[in-house]
Amino acid sequence: SDHCLIYPATPDKMDWSSLFPDYVASEDVPQDQEDKGVATVPAEEQQLGNQEPKALEKKPRKLTQDVEVADIGCGFGGLLIALAPALPDTLILGLEIRVSVTQFVEDRIKALRAQNLEKKLYRNIGVLRANTMKFMPNFFKKAQLSKIFICFPDPHFKARKHKQRIVSATLNSEYAYVLRPGGIVYTITDVPDLHEWMVGHFEAHPSFERVSEEEQEADPCVTIMRTETEEGKKVERNSGKKFVALFRRLDDPPFG
Ligand code: SAM
Repeated sequence: SDHCLIYPATPDKMDWSSLFPDYVASEDVPQDQEDKGVATVPAEEQQLGNQEPKALEKKPRKLTQDVEVADIGCGFGGLLIALAPALPDTLILGLEIRVSVTQFVEDRIKALRAQNLEKKLYRNIGVLRANTMKFMPNFFKKAQLSKIFICFPDPHFKARKHKQRIVSATLNSEYAYVLRPGGIVYTITDVPDLHEWMVGHFEAHPSFERVSEEEQEADPCVTIMRTETEEGKKVERNSGKKFVALFRRLDDPPFG
């Protein structure tokens, strides 16, 4: 519902089985399908930031593999749907804050799975309602992800809104935490100021380096990101410019 954001206290409490039923480990299959295994906290409490995520009673069902790709603010799911056949052996998750949009993507995935029963397509994508500015480390373990997509995040130009940007020094540390060394953050926007902001913040962060243009242009995910997101298509129709930047998660320096 509109009032609740659902998130686990820690990643090992997260039950992914309803999102990726084809990947549930066989010993964990016979359980109540209704049980989502996640805690529910009213949105108002979250806004105040004063809540402790509630502990879970039940043991979550295990998947045979972890989610490895996250699409932050996935909107209507165009990127997820295009990535599904491009990364067929990878679990890909869209995170979206708007209830109705999340529901739309969920229905879209359900329909695509039903239309492709024989080929078993679109089983590797899922969508979750979440505020990625707050709960990324609740969903993903350290170094779990290999790719994070940030496509056309809302720009929030005004200085007083900077804290609401999806890229910031603080959030970049969260992305660095959930991304494995060698993993890539993909960014795209049509807003030049926002592009510069994102490049500036990732380049300033000790855990990231910018990926060269040559390597960027050779990455098939970049082509998909440019052409398949709903926002990217809109920019295309208006003959707008798209600014792309990729950042590699560096190894952590040794202690001492
Ligand atoms: N990535 C999609 C695309 O390229 O077509 C959607 C871009 S749209 C301009 C930005 C999306 O991010 C919106 O759907 C919005 O609801 C979502 N969003 C904004 N803040 C968010 C947050 N904190 N957590 C999750 N999603 C968020």
